[in-house]
Amino acid sequence: MLSALLHLFYPHSCESCGRDLSRNEEILCLRCYHRLPVTRYHLVPNNPVEKLFWGRVPVQHASAAYYFGKHSHLQHLIHSFKYLGRKDIAFFLGRQMGNMLMESGWLTDATSIVPVPLFKSREKKRGYNQAAVLASGISEVTGCRLRQDVLFRKTFTDTQTHKGRIDRWQNVSEVFYSRKNEGLEGEHVLLVDDVLTTGATMEACANSLAGIKDLKISVFGLAYTSV
Ligand SMILES: [Zn+2]
Repeated sequence: MLSALLHLFYPHSCESCGRDLSRNEEILCLRCYHRLPVTRYHLVPNNPVEKLFWGRVPVQHASAAYYFGKHSHLQHLIHSFKYLGRKDIAFFLGRQMGNMLMESGWLTDATSIVPVPLFKSREKKRGYNQAAVLASGISEVTGCRLRQDVLFRKTFTDTQTHKGRIDRWQNVSEVFYSRKNEGLEGEHVLLVDDVLTTGATMEACANSLAGIKDLKISVFGLAYTSV
């Protein structure tokens, strides 16, 4: 229903080449869709994204859906959902990530999707957290639970008002914290973000969840760029 509604409010032309879309095309025409630079890392053990985490934090699986090329049409799509309010593009790309996960063999019956949180001020300005929109696209396709109530980003206000409720900082950068009694024990958490570069953000998120008993963590980014 959400995609039907979004269809009403957004233009029916390809976000990449501007061509009119046919009824069964969405966001991109088929030609541009097939030009998206897929990594297929979700089918490759020991892929470059997995290697980012070796010796840093234990992850079950790690991947990114696409290569992030500068000036590529994927970069244009990312720019549109990050800065031009195009939440529908993030939702569309999240659903493509969901399709990849369905063929990955990563998903278990206890997989929860957890988006990397944004700074509250930035989320307020943008109106949404793009990682959470990607995650909701993944959740729609896979049927895995979307959890936005376990991982949080520290802000100045948080440290002032919720000091007693914040768990012990366990990550190097001390940016994220989790509320640990949220029924994640023994589950498999899939951390989701838009652009993955060094893996430091995902590592900090994983570390902040590290105290949860028997928790397994996997990492999935929309796009990967090596520095
Ligand atoms: Zn096109």
